[in-house]
Amino acid sequence: MQQRITNNAGLDLAAAVWLATDEYTYDTRPNYISVTTLIKPIRQTVLARRVPLEERTVDLLDRVKSSIGHVLHRGIEHSWKEHYRSSLAKLGFPKRVIDAVRINPEEIEPDTIPVFTEFRSEKEVAGFIVSGQVDLIIDWRLRDAKSTTVWAYQSQKSVEGWKLQGSIYRWLNPEKVTHDELLIQYLLLDWSSAESKRTPGYPPHAVPVRSITLMSVQETDQWIRNRLSLLKQYMDAPDHEIPECNEDELWRSEPVYKYYANVNATGRSTKNFDNALAARQFMAEKGGKGRVDMVPGTVKACLYCAAFSVCKQKDRLIADGSLLI
Ligand code: SF4
Repeated sequence: MQQRITNNAGLDLAAAVWLATDEYTYDTRPNYISVTTLIKPIRQTVLARRVPLEERTVDLLDRVKSSIGHVLHRGIEHSWKEHYRSSLAKLGFPKRVIDAVRINPEEIEPDTIPVFTEFRSEKEVAGFIVSGQVDLIIDWRLRDAKSTTVWAYQSQKSVEGWKLQGSIYRWLNPEKVTHDELLIQYLLLDWSSAESKRTPGYPPHAVPVRSITLMSVQETDQWIRNRLSLLKQYMDAPDHEIPECNEDELWRSEPVYKYYANVNATGRSTKNFDNALAARQFMAEKGGKGRVDMVPGTVKACLYCAAFSVCKQKDRLIADGSLLI
């Protein structure tokens, strides 16, 4: 069974077929859990399992980011599998180093440099099969490629999640990953050359790398066991007993503080602020006239969540104006 796809924007066939392509192999074993699912909030994982795949709908436009990420991974994998010799030679690596490289070796020979690309591995623990697909391991060091924005790179958004994900990949493959460092290769989709010249601290190019220290294997094992125990506890629980997604997990935006010069005004505010203090100071400068309203940030995660149709927290978020659909 497949997820239903809509093409609400009427995208042309070339893009539509690309975005509709899903090469993920859905594993139907009842105790199977992927690493990406394991690190999702408990509520999302538990409730998503109550929505059959054929009842989930996704629009093609919502697949653009993940499809770009897929293309990036495929490109890196292809380069290492098909072109590593010529590329390493162009980069100036000596022949003895290039000759030592082995791509996805079955057995590790001494004095070789193993490179593992896009492979899946799994481990059975606490009654579950935990499975994950590693992107790239070069010389015993884990790497992953992420396409994102300059803002996400600078704010280190998702770094904690990637650290957890990388730690689980190492836990799955301790014989292939011996360094405790994960290297994230970014592709900054909105990077601007002009901005890099005029803004201090702006990334100097579109492909920076970030080093993340992984959790220890023991710490990771403990985290996985705790998480699986929570999943078991809530798997058949009624909605109101399942822990709610927190503000981070909901991707709630920051609140806006709106200053109105006219205390009775509605509609468009005189000036907006991102913190209460600045808004109050501004009002004081205006002789204390007017008023400041705090407008809570809105949430976004529900719009991409597989549990959307059955989740009652989502209904409350719609009702209180946090979730706009
Ligand atoms: S629909 Fe929203 S609140 Fe419900 S599980 Fe998904 S992200 Fe959390």
